[in-house]
Amino acid sequence: MGLSKTIWSNPAEFIRNVRPENPVIFFSPTQLQATARRFIDGFPGMVTYAVKTNPSEVVIENLTAAGVRGFDVASPGEIRLVRRLAPDAALHYNNPVRSRAEIAQAVELNVKSWSVDSASELEKLIEMVPADDCEISVRFKLPVAGAAYNFGAKFGATVELAAQLLARVAEAGFIPSLTFHPGTQCTDPHAWESYIREAAEIGRNAGVSVARLNVGGGFPNHRLQAVLPQIEDTFALIDRVATEAFGADRPILICEPGRGLCGDAFTHAAKVKAVRDGAHVFLNDGVYGALAELPLVGIIDRIEVVDEAGHKRNGDLESRIVFGPTCDSVDRIPGELMLPADIAEGDYMVIHGMGAYSIATNTRFNGFGDLTIATVLSLKV
Ligand SMILES: *Cc1c(COP(=O)(O)O)cnc(C)c1O
Repeated sequence: MGLSKTIWSNPAEFIRNVRPENPVIFFSPTQLQATARRFIDGFPGMVTYAVKTNPSEVVIENLTAAGVRGFDVASPGEIRLVRRLAPDAALHYNNPVRSRAEIAQAVELNVKSWSVDSASELEKLIEMVPADDCEISVRFKLPVAGAAYNFGAKFGATVELAAQLLARVAEAGFIPSLTFHPGTQCTDPHAWESYIREAAEIGRNAGVSVARLNVGGGFPNHRLQAVLPQIEDTFALIDRVATEAFGADRPILICEPGRGLCGDAFTHAAKVKAVRDGAHVFLNDGVYGALAELPLVGIIDRIEVVDEAGHKRNGDLESRIVFGPTCDSVDRIPGELMLPADIAEGDYMVIHGMGAYSIATNTRFNGFGDLTIATVLSLKV
């Protein structure tokens, strides 16, 4: 992956000048910092960033510049990355299953917040992590509601087990906290409500005062033209429900958005390699590359097509089957896309809102995946 150091006005200027043969992802630092400030100003607690979503150095640096002071990390590799770029940031090691070697490295790197969802992994932490000034957050789950993707399929204790674990955390001398993840791309604010109410119940059942409640990621980015994410509504709901559920004993709130912070700061462009016999569109990127998430979370319809001079195609919209470049028949964007009828070989298909789980999950399958990051002042084509 090449990192272009020049700053371009917008994606069209880059396309006109470079006519890239490989896929490009355009990054707007201004947009990223504006979104970070929207979270910091609006969320009633501490804003942290889930590094896995997009671990590009420019993302971590710009979030730090915008005032983000905590990061959700899942591996010693992510811990070292953040320690190098933001040495003073708080690290929340929220992958509830870790090897002993990983735990030892994180202790060494001064991690002070851990999550857990099982008795066996909690005992490992109690054995290996010094308790003083250190938080263990019990991750619990409820049946999924309102999200595009179910995070509870892998992690999260039942509410009964969560109460037992929380009591054990407090007894072992750690700061007792709770955490959950409502599922990613959660467009319905109410997804958070039942979790917060249940968290208060878990605390009461454990007989423990919950120090901090981490309400996860899940905040949506702008994927469908017709659905503007109303994150302020979600912040307001979280604030109101936390007070209702916990009363005077309200914990400090934390959120750890990934997609919601970085999704809209990137726009992707793939070159049209061919319009095969006038019908199927073949791109130079696909589901093994930066478009890996589209089959999992659903398509993004914020799509524009430009010719190689950077001019927008304005033909009537027509539905098309769109394939990626590899020889695997899975490499297809699900369903059909509405694209201008005059789309032609050599054009670029531009997709907005592509900052999350794109650069991070890009593979080199079949020799493709040479993705360039280009910095732009504006993402407007
Ligand atoms: C992936 C992940 C996140 C970020 O999720 P988004 O839906 O991208 O906001 C937050 N917390 C944890 C523990 C995660 O695993």
